[in-house]
Amino acid sequence: MVGVESFAKRIIPTTCEPWRVHEVKFSCDASTTHQTVYVRCAKNLFHGERSGNPVGMKFAIARNAAEANVHPKSHWNMHEDWNDSISELRHLSPAKEVRLILGDQLNSQHSWFVEPVSQEVVYVLMEMRQETDYAPHHIQKVVAFFGAMRLFAQQRATSGFRVFYLTLDDARNRQSLTENLDWIRAEVNAAKVSWQMPDEYRLDQQLTEWSAHNRTEDLEIEVFDSEHFYTKRSELASFFKGKKTYRLENFYRAMRKKHDVLMTPTGDPEGGSWNYDASNRQKLPKDHMPPLPLTLDRNVEGLVNMIEAAGVKTTGRLDSKRFGWPITRADGLEVLAYFIETLLPHFGDFQDALTTNSWSVYHSRLSFAMNAKLLTPSEVVNAVEQAFHDEPDRIDVSQAEGFIRQILGWREYMRGVYWAHMPNYETLNFFEHKRKLPDWFWTGKTNMACVSHAIEQTMEHAYAHHIQRLMVTGNFALLAGIHPDELDAWYLGVYIDALQWVEITNTRGMSQFADGGIVGSKPYVSSAQYLKKMGHYCKGCQYDPNEKVGEKACPFNALYWDFYDRHRDKLERNPRIGMAYRTWDRMDPEKQRALLETAAMNLNRIEEL
Ligand SMILES: Cc1cc2nc3c(=O)[nH]c(=O)nc-3n(C[C@H](O)[C@H](O)[C@H](O)COP(=O)(O)OP(=O)(O)OC[C@H]3O[C@@H](n4cnc5c(N)ncnc54)[C@H](O)[C@@H]3O)c2cc1C
Ligand code: SF4
Repeated sequence: MVGVESFAKRIIPTTCEPWRVHEVKFSCDASTTHQTVYVRCAKNLFHGERSGNPVGMKFAIARNAAEANVHPKSHWNMHEDWNDSISELRHLSPAKEVRLILGDQLNSQHSWFVEPVSQEVVYVLMEMRQETDYAPHHIQKVVAFFGAMRLFAQQRATSGFRVFYLTLDDARNRQSLTENLDWIRAEVNAAKVSWQMPDEYRLDQQLTEWSAHNRTEDLEIEVFDSEHFYTKRSELASFFKGKKTYRLENFYRAMRKKHDVLMTPTGDPEGGSWNYDASNRQKLPKDHMPPLPLTLDRNVEGLVNMIEAAGVKTTGRLDSKRFGWPITRADGLEVLAYFIETLLPHFGDFQDALTTNSWSVYHSRLSFAMNAKLLTPSEVVNAVEQAFHDEPDRIDVSQAEGFIRQILGWREYMRGVYWAHMPNYETLNFFEHKRKLPDWFWTGKTNMACVSHAIEQTMEHAYAHHIQRLMVTGNFALLAGIHPDELDAWYLGVYIDALQWVEITNTRGMSQFADGGIVGSKPYVSSAQYLKKMGHYCKGCQYDPNEKVGEKACPFNALYWDFYDRHRDKLERNPRIGMAYRTWDRMDPEKQRALLETAAMNLNRIEEL
């Protein structure tokens, strides 16, 4: 039988030199001698067929996989029968209590499930058009939620809990949360309805109104904590009481102390510093190839067929035989373990790096697993802190702190801002931006190489890492004056992890400064210089990052100055921006005029950029 390495060489074209296998996967049935080998090189996936003895093959695979540095935990083709698995969960019968579980509340550690199992309680999960249609979602996002919900329901039922699962195509489905709740409650004749506090404002309102109309002497309603976050909804607002603006750093330090995370026994921050931001800004070395992300390939054809048959409008792409996101708790733990083992040692260093060599660089890809509550933030933070204590030589404090700050700091902070400022927050438009989102945001078909790459990979993976979202697409949108409503709808739709509480605070707040400075102290904008410094896009771009004016000049350059000039009245007094205005004021008036003309030309041809 041909060895894996030499077989892989045969199916990878020579154009992929320098030859290097990043990952090899096998699709084979133990009872057959036929095998499909998938080989991934830097950019492409190839496959070929081979035959051999299946038992001997296992050894060959193990040996060759180790030699080829293949990720040993990679799964292949987990096949779920998406309908059969929940067919037992479609029946309703009398129960004393209905407990509603929303699609992002898949927390098997919740105290609901620690209590002794009661057959008087029915747990209800629903797929609904109300949720598929409130934004144009990426197909992978819809699949991730429905898949995670079905597997969660199945697991709960296997553990003995009574579960009712309403599929999108069930004829009884009213496709609305509260209308479904009405008939389910009546059908089972429940005396009590309970839910966990929703994280989305719109769902919280919907359930609160339902509660106001339905609470009677015959119907008790109880709302539970979701037991997921470090903080309570109003904790951040209390922390900053009396302050006009919030700042992450104060809150983050208080969280570190309160939860005793990365603190020494004497009460000092581990390593002597609260924050290693300055060392978290490295560019990837030339030709550096980050490890491949761990994908957990599942066959989701059954789900995709149902979503399409229902006529749900989605965006983005999906290979339905290879869905890679973690959608069970076990998957999430596996991705966390892989992150700690392989990616954490460089997470902080390359947190801000931009590259075309990898779609997730050293990022964890844990946001969906956490946002759907498959994993708790504290278990992720604790695992990373433990790894730092166990192996300080391999995992430097700057890597661990850089990661923990995102979860214990930013994630809790954004949630607190959301609950302190909704519903007003979703109407804020500090700069009064009005421009329509260019159509190429949905296709990636723009000549700006950095923007095109970020959008392309978003459509391919329903993912872009933080700096792509902030400094590439977000930066362009802010400079171009795109309406924050249009931008929110885009970010809310296209990312696997997008839920309004964390999407809108990042988009309208951190990225667009549409909140006038509640989240951040200044707008995140940059010219081509930053993008050139942090990534490798510019060499392959139609535009010149060093040119400031004219058709060939990078559009970021003139738009940057145009933005500051347009919003002088709103930004000039910001102490963090003074330098930009001083530079602008020192510029020759001819140069200023040429920059503003170039910006106007680019805004006029925005669809063709
Ligand atoms: C315009 C814009 C929109 C965004 N929309 C979302 C969104 O809809 N949902 C979402 O979860 N995150 C959002 N973020 C924050 C961040 O980009 C993502 O959490 C991150 O890219 C997810 O990938 P990861 O799990 O690999 O993160 P890593 O880089 O590995 O970080 C680890 C974890 O830290 C948390 N985190 C990191 N940065 C932030 C942040 N700024 N705010 C809150 N939590 C953070 C996430 O839970 C993330 O999983 C957005 C950022 C921007 C600039
Ligand atoms: S030249 Fe400008 S548009 Fe092109 S990749 Fe560089 S920063 Fe992006």
